[in-house]
Amino acid sequence: MSSIKTTSILGTPIEFLKGVGPKKADLLKTELQIFTYRDLLEHYPFRYIDKSQFQRISEIQSDELPVQVKGKFKSLKEVGVGNKKRLNALFEDETGEIELAWFKGVQWVRNGLNYEEEFVVYGKPKRFKNTWSISHPEVTKVNEAKLKLTPFKPVYRSTEKCNRTGLNSQGIESIVINLLQLLRHQIPETLPSEILEKYKLPSKEEASIHVHRPRALALLQRSLTRLKLEELLFLQLILVSNKVKVTTKMKGVTFKKVGKLFTEFYENGIPFDLTGAQKRVLKEVRHDVRYGAHMNRLIQGDVGSGKTIVALLTALLGIDNNYQVCLMAPTEILAIQHFEGISELLKNFPITVKLLTGSTPKSKRKVIHEELASGALQFLIGTHALLEPVVMFKNLGLAIIDEQHRFGVKQRARLWGKAEITPHVLVMTATPIPRTLAMTLYGDLDVSTIDELPPGRKPITTVHKTDSSRLHVFGFMEEEIKKGRQVYVVYPLIEESESELLSELKDLYDGHEALEKRFPRPEYQISIVHGRQKSSDKEYEMNRFIKKETQILVATTVIEVGVNVPNASVMVIENAERFGLSQLHQLRGRVGRGAEQSHCILITGKLKSPESKRRIQTMCSTNDGFEIAQVDLEIRGPGDIMGTQQSGALDLKIADLAVDQKILAKARELAVNILNDDEALAKPKHASLNLELQRLKAFKPNWGNIS
Ligand code: ADP
Ligand code: MG
Repeated sequence: MSSIKTTSILGTPIEFLKGVGPKKADLLKTELQIFTYRDLLEHYPFRYIDKSQFQRISEIQSDELPVQVKGKFKSLKEVGVGNKKRLNALFEDETGEIELAWFKGVQWVRNGLNYEEEFVVYGKPKRFKNTWSISHPEVTKVNEAKLKLTPFKPVYRSTEKCNRTGLNSQGIESIVINLLQLLRHQIPETLPSEILEKYKLPSKEEASIHVHRPRALALLQRSLTRLKLEELLFLQLILVSNKVKVTTKMKGVTFKKVGKLFTEFYENGIPFDLTGAQKRVLKEVRHDVRYGAHMNRLIQGDVGSGKTIVALLTALLGIDNNYQVCLMAPTEILAIQHFEGISELLKNFPITVKLLTGSTPKSKRKVIHEELASGALQFLIGTHALLEPVVMFKNLGLAIIDEQHRFGVKQRARLWGKAEITPHVLVMTATPIPRTLAMTLYGDLDVSTIDELPPGRKPITTVHKTDSSRLHVFGFMEEEIKKGRQVYVVYPLIEESESELLSELKDLYDGHEALEKRFPRPEYQISIVHGRQKSSDKEYEMNRFIKKETQILVATTVIEVGVNVPNASVMVIENAERFGLSQLHQLRGRVGRGAEQSHCILITGKLKSPESKRRIQTMCSTNDGFEIAQVDLEIRGPGDIMGTQQSGALDLKIADLAVDQKILAKARELAVNILNDDEALAKPKHASLNLELQRLKAFKPNWGNIS
C-alpha cells in the first residue's frame, strides 16, 4: 500500500484550535483520545436533549439528566464578598420552586436577570434536603430562547477529569463550534454521489455540521443515518474484501479422510442418537474442513442443545488426519467438565487428552508443553492458559472455543498465531445473535444453528416469587429432594465495588445458613461454591454435588456456564433482578437436562425498574433462547452482550450495532455490490471511497484483523 498524504486541515493537532490551551489539549488527548481536528469532529454527541420541551418543577425526579424549566425568579440574593461572593436564587413555575446558585461571574450573571420577564433554565439538578437545586445553570430569556436555532442540545461524552477542567459536555460543545467555523468547505465527501442521490442523504459536510448543531429533527435524523451508513459501509468494505482474500487465498488445513476414530465413535461411542439439527450442523462443518479452505464457523444453539458432541466429532476428524486439536473454555470449572466428559466418552479410544488451566502444577505443565511440541498430545482442553506464548503446538489443526462471547477478537487471533497454517476455528455460543451482527463482530464467520433440543426434554416451568414466599420455596425444594432430585440455589456476585462484594457475599452466606437450618445435616448435605474460593475448594464442593453427595448447591454465577448435572431439577435464583437476561437464561439451562420435569424459581424483592420487570416477565413467559436474546439486545445493546472487547475493538464513532441493524444490513449490501462492480475501487466514481478506505486502513488496523 502506498503511503497516503493527509495534508487535510482535519489532521491539524488539537492544540491549534481556538479555545484549546495546552492543559485542555492534554486532557483531550489522554482522556478522550482526541488528538486532531478530525478526532474532535468525530466526537459525536451520544444523545440530544429536546430543548423545545419543558419540565414542570414539581415533576423533577432524578439527578441523572439535566432538566429544562420555564418560569420567573422569585428571589435573587448576593451573599458573601470578594472571592467568596455567590448568587442564590429561587426560581418558580406554576408547580413549584427550585434553587439556583452561581459561584463565579456573579455580578455579570446578576445583571442579566430580573423579576419581570420569563426565563428558561437548563442544568443538572441536585437534591439538597427537600428541594432541588442547580449550580451554574444556563439561563436564557424566553424571548431569546425562542430565537435559538438549536432546539436539540447535543450531549457529549466526557470524563470526571475533563469535567473539572471545563471540558464537560457544554465545554466540548463550545470548542466544537469553533472547529465547525474553521472547517467550512473543508470536509471532503467520502461517498459516491450515486449513493447520496439514491438514498437522499446529505453531504458529509452538511451531515457533520448537523449532528453537532442540529436545527430540525428530520435533518438531524438524515444526518445521523448518513454518518452511520458511511461508517458501517467502510467497515463492511474491509470485511467483504477480506472474505474474498480468505476464501481465495487463505488455505486451511485439510481433513481429507474420515478415519477410524470418527467412524467408530460415530457408530459406537455416542450414547444417544444425534438430533436432526446436530446432524445437519455436523454436515456443514465436515463440508468446511474437507476442501482445504479455512473454516471459521460459529455454532449457535440454545443451552442444552448439544453443541459439545458436534465439536467433539469435528475434533476426531482432525485427529484422524494427524492434526492436534484444542478446546478452550471460559472458566476452569467448565474446562474441567469438558475434560472429564470428553475423557469419559473417549475412554476406549487411543487418544491422548489433557487438561491445562491456570492451576495446573508447573511439573505437569512442562510435560504438556513438551508433548504438544512433539505432537504426542493430540487433544488439549483448557482455559485462557492455552493462550500463553509458551504453549506451542506441533500442528494445530482445529481450535474449538466454547461460549465464545467471553473471548475477545484479539484472544482468538492469538490462538491462530500458534500454527503455520491457520487452524480451523469452531466457536460455540448459546447467545444467538443476528447474522449481520455476528459477521461484523466476529468477521466473516459462517453460522450454523442447532435449533432443536434433544428429545424427551420437558420445557422448564419458570415462576416468579417474592422474598416473602421463601418458606414455600423451601417446602417445594424439600419435595423435589425427597424424590431424589438435586437443587441449585444461586446468588449474584457481581463485584462491582468492594462494598457491594461484601454485601453480596453476606447474602450468599446468610442464605447458606438459612438453608442449613432448614435442611439440617446429616439428613441433608449442602455444597457451597463462589467466585472468591480457592479453585481446589471449588472443585471439591462441585464434585460432591456432581457425585450426588450433596442435594443442594449454593453458588454464585461460577456455575453460570456449562455445568452439567442431569439429576438437578430445580434452579432457585435469589436476587434475580440483579442478573441480566442472558445470564438468567444460562442459569436456567442448568436444569431440564434429564427426563424429569424441571423448575426455575426467580426470587426478587419488589421490582422497581421497568427493565427488571421486563426481564423477569420474559423469563416466565418463554424458554426460547432466540427470543430472549432479542429482548436482551433491546435492553442492553450489543456491547454488553458480546463483551465490550469485541465492539470496543471496532471503535465505532457513531453507529450502534444494537439499534442500527437495518443500516448495517444496507451497508453490507452496498459493500458487496460495490466490490462486485469494482473490486479494486479503481473506477473514478469510487475515488473518494478508495481514498477514505486507505486512510481508515492505516488508522484502524483492528478492522483488518477482525475475521
Ligand atoms: P450445550 O449445547 O449447552 O453445550 P451440551 O453439549 O452440554 O449442551 O449437551 C447437553 C446435554 O445433552 C449433555 O448431557 C449431552 O450429553 C446431552 N445430549 C446432547 N445431544 C443429545 C442428543 N442428541 N440426545 C440426547 N442427549 C443429548
Ligand atoms: Mg456447552
